[in-house]
Amino acid sequence: MATVTRFAPSPTGYLHLGHASAALIAWTRARRDGGRFLLRIEDIDAGRCRADLAAAILEDLTWLGLDWDGPVRVQSQHLAQYRQVLDALAGRGLLYPCFCTRADIAREIGAAAAAPQGADGPLYPGTCRHLSPAQRAARRAAGQPFALRLDMARACAAAPSRLSFAEEGVGAVACQPERLGDVVLARKDAPASYHLCVTHDDAAQGVTLVTRGDDLRAATHLHRLLQALMGWPVPRYAHHPLIKDDSGRRLAKRDGAVSLRALREQGMTPQDIRLLIGG
Ligand code: GLU
Repeated sequence: MATVTRFAPSPTGYLHLGHASAALIAWTRARRDGGRFLLRIEDIDAGRCRADLAAAILEDLTWLGLDWDGPVRVQSQHLAQYRQVLDALAGRGLLYPCFCTRADIAREIGAAAAAPQGADGPLYPGTCRHLSPAQRAARRAAGQPFALRLDMARACAAAPSRLSFAEEGVGAVACQPERLGDVVLARKDAPASYHLCVTHDDAAQGVTLVTRGDDLRAATHLHRLLQALMGWPVPRYAHHPLIKDDSGRRLAKRDGAVSLRALREQGMTPQDIRLLIGG
């Protein structure tokens, strides 16, 4: 089966060296294996994503010499598909509305003697999981905004036990999604979450090898669970180290990591960029 990889940036800033490296890894695998390299714009967070930045991503990749196969998938054009997944999970009793604010959650965690720790920090304490149907209805009727969380214990019980995924360089990894707790699958301010859209789209687009930064390794456990619940195909995974800045911190748009455009304006060529990221 031909390898299908993808690069899936969010248009919240200009691409930097970390993105160039991630894109090059995915592109190289597809081209080397005679497969396909797909491009997906992950723009469901309307408050942070911008159309001009999405256009800039396409331009920067082209400048780097990376071409993609088929049309670009733009997540904001597929909201009905994510809604269907949410409805399917909700119909099986695997989601619940969460009305908590960040402050509510921080207060609960602070008050707990020993807040359970997950892969990404303290787990959601489950406050809204315990609301009665009447309490939920009353809050909804009062117009309180809510997110939808996965009831992790129920979701694990509904999926086959002993799930695993194949990770290059590691082998079969036993799936432990409970380390992420009751994750948000639909946000208060966005119709679906990263986890839901990325897993849905990798399946919908026939991606066979997901290459991405090792900051998302823990998320893969959850994605594997969603695949099992939804009957989606399971790609292989390859998590690569993130490019760090001189002080050892990962490059981030919000910290003003130097963009590819800035490097280009300083006179760097695509070849210079490839040398910098070791591609
Ligand atoms: N939109 C995500 C990001 O920019 C994609 C991560 C992934 O490849 O799964 O981090």
